[in-house]
Amino acid sequence: MTKSLKKTATVAVRSLVPGRPHHAQWMITRKCNYHCRGCNVWKEQDQRELSTEEIIRGLDILKDLGIVEIVLSGGNPLLREDAPEIIEYASNLFVTTVYDNGSMATKKIEALRNVDFVAISIDSLDEAKNDYIKAVPGAWKKAMKAVETLHNERISVSVTPTISQLNLYEIVGITNYFTQKGIPVWYCLYSFDQSEDKNQLFRIGKINDELIIRDDQAMVKLCDSLIEMKKKNRKILITTKLLNALRTLFLEGKRTWNCRALQNFLVIDHLGRIAGCHSHNFSGSIFDLPKLWNSENFNLLRKTYNKCKQCAYLCYIFYSLHGNPYGNLTLAKDQWKNVKLLFER
Ligand code: SF4
Ligand code: SF4
Repeated sequence: MTKSLKKTATVAVRSLVPGRPHHAQWMITRKCNYHCRGCNVWKEQDQRELSTEEIIRGLDILKDLGIVEIVLSGGNPLLREDAPEIIEYASNLFVTTVYDNGSMATKKIEALRNVDFVAISIDSLDEAKNDYIKAVPGAWKKAMKAVETLHNERISVSVTPTISQLNLYEIVGITNYFTQKGIPVWYCLYSFDQSEDKNQLFRIGKINDELIIRDDQAMVKLCDSLIEMKKKNRKILITTKLLNALRTLFLEGKRTWNCRALQNFLVIDHLGRIAGCHSHNFSGSIFDLPKLWNSENFNLLRKTYNKCKQCAYLCYIFYSLHGNPYGNLTLAKDQWKNVKLLFER
């Protein structure tokens, strides 16, 4: 059996085990080389991080726990010198996504060959606007170059705009531009931290008046457009279920999902601390995760998170909606080339 089919088979088996978390987001570094206007990470950098060996040990623990899909982010995960080793190890165990702001991917190209999704952040086709949002001159050119290079190298690159008031009206255009070139598009949604937990693990979204979505009707219209476009365009990676949830949120202010933090997903920070999401305090170390997962404390936290309505980060909504084994597997079948191979044999 080839390496990739072996991975596919073990991932498929893990997908079907109930009562396990399927998604983990590991911010493997707090270092970042950008200054995005809607982000706190760059203001609160930390030079401390786990060693390569510790991360490898943590990845094994996540695999044993049943994690199917991992997102390596930061900061910028590619700023770590050992990023190639970490990425290779993760890619052999999980459906792996690596985030980059577009500045590093071309420098680490060999490390990205086996990654399932390399997500490059581009917020506008207008160079000046993109660079304004990122607060880094030249960001757009680098990101566009990265996407082109990775695509030409047949690496699974996707573009990930963060939807905000500044680019709301051009999301359809951005989507068409990249998907017509065969490049998939996924989205983030601008959100800012409004956690009531003063010990929240770390802050990501920074409040910024220019970015807050004020035109709710346009957001509803965008959801309608993407739902329609998805019928013919398989390169739009966001799911219809997620678009419908967003549509209702912006149309009626109603949340049609319960948060499943610490059930379907968990986050790990650069020091190996785990939490349901970044907005709450950490609840232990990744190295204690096997004994914590079924603990009374974790069960109580799950109940609290289940009722929590403090954020609208798209990835958390997505994981809350798509976490059960069946949903996970169909999602993977839809979006992950290796699972398709297994199904088609
Ligand atoms: S959004 Fe990403 S690239 Fe921008 S400052 Fe924050 S962590 Fe860095
Ligand atoms: S809704 Fe869920 S992901 Fe968002 S802050 Fe609450 S527990 Fe965290």
